[in-house]
Amino acid sequence: MTDISWHTMQASEIMRNLGTNTDSGLSHVEAENRLKKYGYNQLEEKEGISPLMLFLGQFNDFIVWILIAATIVSGFLGEWVDALAILAIVIINAIIGFIQEYRAEKSLEALRKMTTLFSRVLRNSEIHSIPSRNIVPGDIVLLEAGDYVPADGRLCSSFSLKTQEASLTGESTPVVKSAEPLQNPLLPIGDRENMVFMGTSVTSGKGMCVVITTGMHTELGKIAGLIQEAGKEDTPLQRKLEVFGKKLVYLCLGIVTLVFLLELWRKDPLLEAFLMSVSLAVAAIPEGLPAIVTIALALGVQRMVKRHVLIRKLPAVEALGCTTVICSDKTGTLTQNEMTVRKIFANGKTVDVSGTGYDPEGNFAFNNMPLSEIDRRMVTFVLGIGVLCNNAHLKRDNTTWKVIGDPTEGAILSAAAKAGLWKEGLQKKFPLASENPFDSDRKKMSTVRKTPYSVFLVCEKGAADVIVKDCTKIYIEGELRDLTEDDIRVIVNENNKMADAALRVIGIAFKPLDLETLNPDPAITERDLIFAGLLAMIDPPRPEVKDAVATCHKAGITTVMITGDHKNTAWAIGEELGFLCNDRKVIEGVELDTLPAEILEKEVSKIAVYARVSAEHKLRIVKAWKKQGSVVAMTGDGVNDAPAVKEASIGISMGITGTDVTKEASDMVITDDNFASIVAAVEEGRGIYDNIKKSIHYLLSCNAGEILTMLFASICNLPLPLFPIQILWINIATDGLPALALGVDAVDTDIMKRPARRSAEQIIDKNLGLLIVFQGFLIALSTLLAYLYVLYYTSSVKPGYLHYWFLNELIPCCLGGPLTGDLERARTAAFSVMVISQLFHSFNCRNAHRSLFKIGIFTNKKLLLATGFSLAMQVAIIYIPYSENVFKVMPLELKDWIAIFGFSTLVFIIMEIIKCFKKS
Ligand code: ATP
Repeated sequence: MTDISWHTMQASEIMRNLGTNTDSGLSHVEAENRLKKYGYNQLEEKEGISPLMLFLGQFNDFIVWILIAATIVSGFLGEWVDALAILAIVIINAIIGFIQEYRAEKSLEALRKMTTLFSRVLRNSEIHSIPSRNIVPGDIVLLEAGDYVPADGRLCSSFSLKTQEASLTGESTPVVKSAEPLQNPLLPIGDRENMVFMGTSVTSGKGMCVVITTGMHTELGKIAGLIQEAGKEDTPLQRKLEVFGKKLVYLCLGIVTLVFLLELWRKDPLLEAFLMSVSLAVAAIPEGLPAIVTIALALGVQRMVKRHVLIRKLPAVEALGCTTVICSDKTGTLTQNEMTVRKIFANGKTVDVSGTGYDPEGNFAFNNMPLSEIDRRMVTFVLGIGVLCNNAHLKRDNTTWKVIGDPTEGAILSAAAKAGLWKEGLQKKFPLASENPFDSDRKKMSTVRKTPYSVFLVCEKGAADVIVKDCTKIYIEGELRDLTEDDIRVIVNENNKMADAALRVIGIAFKPLDLETLNPDPAITERDLIFAGLLAMIDPPRPEVKDAVATCHKAGITTVMITGDHKNTAWAIGEELGFLCNDRKVIEGVELDTLPAEILEKEVSKIAVYARVSAEHKLRIVKAWKKQGSVVAMTGDGVNDAPAVKEASIGISMGITGTDVTKEASDMVITDDNFASIVAAVEEGRGIYDNIKKSIHYLLSCNAGEILTMLFASICNLPLPLFPIQILWINIATDGLPALALGVDAVDTDIMKRPARRSAEQIIDKNLGLLIVFQGFLIALSTLLAYLYVLYYTSSVKPGYLHYWFLNELIPCCLGGPLTGDLERARTAAFSVMVISQLFHSFNCRNAHRSLFKIGIFTNKKLLLATGFSLAMQVAIIYIPYSENVFKVMPLELKDWIAIFGFSTLVFIIMEIIKCFKKS
């Protein structure tokens, strides 16, 4: 199919060939069959890493090699139990690592799948929005500004259509497209003006195409191998942690070498000292951390989906937590985007319109009285022009009326229907000849309609101030006359009054056009128009936004509204929603034009609302805030917003009203277009970072506890309180599940009461570093105290004479003499305290400042389960037959367990007391 010169053929001939047409498109059944035949419309992705390779990758680690070497050496020396036990631990560690990484990989894959693009396709005579991957050859696809072209197609119709084909041809200037057949069959891709290609985007205008090829058969598919995106992108935190992790490995290896040398100096056998050091190194290095970070990020991102936030680029999650400014569009994000025409200014009078929503039931009244005949005719005329310059459709869904398309246009259709005018009927009488589509920079649109008379009819609608500028005449009392200064003053006054009441105002104009050409230049059609009237519609604020704005302010986040709407409308909505606090002001795009960049940088923090702005202004605003050192989140929907969205620290696109191009440029998509969801995303972003910090805090303080215990014992010349196999076990029992459970902890309730985190902030700053060492010291202290305590009460010296025991047992032991306590029992106790105190400590890490009893013991059930499971495993290995030989432990008595639990709670109790003092 790819060898045919589609561009030289008539569109109708192509459609015949492909068994389709522009009236009904393909039937669902045919589309289903073609999907089976041609496959999904997608580019083949590079194979991910296979599970086997992922598992084998777990052994590709220097420390693990040493551990395996140690196993082999132990085996040769006949230490079979040790050798097998260490091997088992290595394998269990690899399995845990594999599960964590596999899960992380799967979660990331799920995220990638969520960002599917949709296309509007004609099937069974109806327009459907379907995932672009389901498009098949023969489908009729509708295109408009901001859409990505989903497959290669031949245009059947186009109105001012331009596409950007840089992804294929490298040419970034938009190409003008038309549906006319071309002559030269050998034209290069870039010159095939009647074709559109997968992966290119529509920059302006609209069109309709019939799909010719899909997936790997498209022009993009042919070069897909060359442009496939390189692997996954690490977040700044992941990159920082990698560097930090390397430093940590050197530090741990340094300490472990010291312990090794001390052991040798104490004349421990070389193998034992070696095994001990290797085990300690394994335990001290938080090798599971990268996977935990990925899982915390990926699961957090999945949690965000439930709050209507779709993260497209993982690094955005971190930036979200640092957001200091949110710049938001008004229409649809702060407001409901459910418009109803409330007032119509026509024939010099302001008429009230009753009714709710898009329901076409309602009346027109002037001063609470029915309209006079001439007023009724003039109102109907204004609405008629609005309907003929309109791309929306009203649809009845059971009992409610819905709009397919732009709500502003839907509101006009509904108001017109109240006057008895239905789009379908009018369109038949006045078929479309050409269109200059709406664009938020132009703030207007126009159509040229064929009429039953010997003229065309130009219909224009747009922002009232913009429309008035295009007019030279006015239609009033059923007659045409020149538009005077007084008329303009009256119209502007009326516009201001309506905007003051937070109404969105649309101006309506028209003119007869004596032209033969079907696609005339807007410079001709959109000038010397006749002013017909104004339509004012309500767009109520979303009820949850006011609270969300207040939450932002409490969280130290500045909120800014940027809208294309009238200054007064923006002002009224801004006031109502709490944007205009602290004497911050409202300015218009024209004022912004007069401010040089340096002045704007100084003033930007004083401006809360920008009205009548264009996409270009948005870019300036983002740059000014960024120059101030702020982390800026910026929303966008239209194709022109893409540069500002890209420039923002966090570019946000709208899931419902957003164009593909803006979505593609954005870091995240708000699936319900709601400002409150952006605030929820910031909250989650802060929470995810906080949780990762908790996991790191926990892992490092526990590891510090293990190292310090062995270091102190070594320095004090005590028999080592833990065996290598025990240290390896601790690594499994405490590092895995509890650290993961902390990584997915519930977001702290006070998280939005704290100021935003600085983006340059180190995840482990000086304070946290000191806290980690201190808590590690407490864990080591509890372990050593439990060890010495059991030695003391099992020694031959009578308990009670503590000073005597110190002088006669402990000090001589430190100097190389005997120690008569029950060493095996003391080691079992120390081993248990090391594990259980770390489990208690995991609860400390849930919040560095607030007591567990304030945040709630049961608010992280996963942590309770994880610690409960680890505790049960610890008790089990002490009592399960044979495992005592492997782990070199012995069953303990009740009084040992009481002591173990007593010492294990030490770190928790001390931290709770400190938190208590910190609070007061
Ligand atoms: P925001 O940027 O907050 O979403 P907005 O939706 O009001 O603002 P635009 O879509 O750029 O901004 O609209 C700017 C102006 O253009 C509106 O105030 C309105 O007067 C006019 N307008 C909006 N939609 C249409 C439309 N479909 N046809 C004609 N004019 C429109």
